[in-house]
Parts: sequence; C-alpha cells; structure tokens
Amino acid sequence: MKTIDDLGDLRGKRVLVRSDLNVPLDGTTITDDGRIRASVPTIKKLSDAGAKVVVVAHLGRPKGAPEEKYSLRPVVARMSELLGTDVAFATDTVGDSAKAVVAGLADGDVAILENIRFNPGETSKDEAERGAFADELAALADVFVSDGFGVVHRKQASVYDVAKRLPHAMGGLVLAEVEVLKRLTVDPARPYAVVLGGSKVSDKLGVIDNLIGKADRLLIGGAMVFTFLAAQGNPIGTSRVEADQIDVVKGYLATAAERGVEVVLPVDIVVAAEFSQDAAPEVVAADAIPDGKMGLDIGPESGKLFAAKLADAKTVFWNGPMGVFEWEAYSAGTRAVAQALTEVDGLTVVGGGDSAAAVRTLGFDERAFGHISTGGGASLEYLEGKTLPGIDVLED
Ligand code: ADP
Ligand code: MG
Repeated sequence: MKTIDDLGDLRGKRVLVRSDLNVPLDGTTITDDGRIRASVPTIKKLSDAGAKVVVVAHLGRPKGAPEEKYSLRPVVARMSELLGTDVAFATDTVGDSAKAVVAGLADGDVAILENIRFNPGETSKDEAERGAFADELAALADVFVSDGFGVVHRKQASVYDVAKRLPHAMGGLVLAEVEVLKRLTVDPARPYAVVLGGSKVSDKLGVIDNLIGKADRLLIGGAMVFTFLAAQGNPIGTSRVEADQIDVVKGYLATAAERGVEVVLPVDIVVAAEFSQDAAPEVVAADAIPDGKMGLDIGPESGKLFAAKLADAKTVFWNGPMGVFEWEAYSAGTRAVAQALTEVDGLTVVGGGDSAAAVRTLGFDERAFGHISTGGGASLEYLEGKTLPGIDVLED
C-alpha cells in the first residue's frame, strides 16, 4: 500500500485529497471540529511539500443537489484558521468555479471544493454515472490521496472510483486508523473488553457477531440495551426496542455463554416519563422498568459496574453512548465509561461519530484515550471483518 512518501516529488503537482470534514453544525457554527483537526496533518504535509492541494469532502446528507445548509463554507473558515493560511473555496464540485480555483493555485496552496454530495454522481449506485463524475474529478488533479477514513466503507466517486483513475496513496489519517484497528483484531492484548451503546442494535449486529469470537467481555448500554433486556424477558416500559431483533439477540446471548464471553448488562437504568430534556429522571432496577417509563441512560450502579469491568482490561473498544448524553440528566453513564477508559492501562479506542463527540463535549482530554476514531461506520465494518472498498482500491 502506497503512502504519501511513496508519491515522489509533489512540488507543483495537483493533489486531490478526499478528507472527512463532516462535522456537526448548529446553523453555521461548528459544534465539534474534531474531524477538521484530524484532517489537518495530511493537508499540511502535502502543502509543505509544495503540492497544489485540492480537498474534497461531504457534509450531511444532501440529495445530490446544492442545499445551503450543507455548504462546506463554515468548514473552509475553520480550516483556514487551523492551517494558518487562506484556504480557497470553490462554490461547485467540478464546475467552472472548481476549475478556476484549481487553476489559480500556487505551489503549497490549499483549496476546498463545495460539498461533493451536491453532485448526484458521488453516491450514485450506477457505475457509469459515478464513473463519469469521477472522470471530472480526476481531471482536476495529477494524484489522489485517500484520507477520509469516515467514508472508506463507501463505494463512492471521490472515495473509490477516482482512485482507479489517478496514481494514488493512503493518507496519514487512514493509515493511523487502520493500524489501530488492526491491533483490535490481530492478537489483541487481554482482557479485551468491548463497550457498545448508541441508538440502534441493528446497526451494530455485525460487529457484535464478530466480536463475540474475539472479545472477553461485552458491555452493553445505550438504547440497544433494551432489546437485550427484553430478550432476557424483562419489562422495558416505553424504552426504545427493536422487536424484530430480539431473537437475534437471544442467539448472541447463547453464543456468548457457550464461548465464555462475559456479557455485562446494566443493573439499574435512569428512566423518565417521556423523551424530553425536562422530564424528571428516576433510577430503577434494570429488571423492573415501570410501565409508561422509558430508559434514557444506564444508572449509577451500572456506571460503577462497567468501570470495574474495564479496570483491568488491556484492550478496550467503545462505540456508542450509554445514554442520551446530549442532555445533562442522562449523561452520567457515558461520562462514567469515558472516565473508566481514561484510567485503563492499555489500548483504548473510541469509535463512532457521536461517541467521539460525547468524549469531547463532556470535557475529556482527547489525549487521555489511545485513539479516537474519526469513522463510526467504517471502524465498525472493519471490525466486522468486511472489506472496505475505499481501502481495497488503494492496494493496486
Ligand atoms: P455513534 O455515532 O457513536 O456510533 P450512535 O449513532 O449509534 O452512536 O448513537 C448515538 C445516539 O444514541 C445519541 O444521539 C444518543 O442520544 C442516543 N441514545 C443513547 N442511549 C439512548 C437511549 N436510551 N434512548 C434513546 N437514545 C439513546
Ligand atoms: Mg451516530
């Protein structure tokens, strides 16, 4: 696999970089700039090497047409601050503005093109349509660098097809992410604990399936825990549940028991009468959630239990918040797990967009974690053992 150092002299070359700049916005205010900061080293390295750097990225989920609320303009401003230089902005993806901006770059300059998903070719399932868009993208550059780890599990024009059209290399961020994920799959230091939470079990079934064969302990929180509690025959009130997954979860519990994998479920739950920031929180036993109440966080005893189950771990992978951490009243479980990770003497990896944002918005120092992944879906698919098209394509 080629890296940037294998690309030779880049001075004066136009380098197209796929970055992941998909940050959460409140209006035009960036609420967590983690992904922008993570993208800086590769862009800076290319710029320092004298390349003309053309960055492509997406933001949010536009439907193949421009939408002002998904414009990358606020990201360009933040990137300029972080790089300490003016970053040029093209107001289209491969049109007149992009062509003019790229043509105007001097050696070492950086430009960002408008949200790549404003063009329907980017995510098209039609190979020809995607390929035609990739042709136009490739025409803007001499070399391609893949650095958007959050999208490498997508077979999209700026991730996959463009790599087939230009000399290419893996960027430093993708390289670092893959190296850490390898350590979670190839001979992890034990005990190896995996903490899973977040909103949907169905998103994470593949990874549970795969990790049951590899991890020593599986700690479950978040909304997905109610499908587990229901599978054990407990009442779950009005908590979120995926009824169609209960049988699958029963199967996992049985497999885990057979293989000696310890499944740790919360012993208490913070519930409320409704899904609202203002609903009065109440702590109840996990096997006795009252009718009409919904679980919004794991309880204080569970926070202690989870911390105890992580204390001697040598490898920890965590994906998915333990509760609705966005609301202070339901953030304690997520905080307890984050705190426990900072105390682990071993490799700790946080994956998932919301989990990474939770760590930062709850005030933890990122340096207290071994690695905070920029890619949720991508890291899960890697751990599921799937081939990631955006990485596979860089092999040849
Ligand atoms: P990640 O992005 O880290 O993979 P997910 O997207 O799967 O995580 O889930 C994050 C979301 O899950 C958060 O917005 C959080 O509010 C929500 N969540 C966690 N626990 C609950 C719960 N008990 N009920 C409803 N939503 C929950
Ligand atoms: Mg998420």
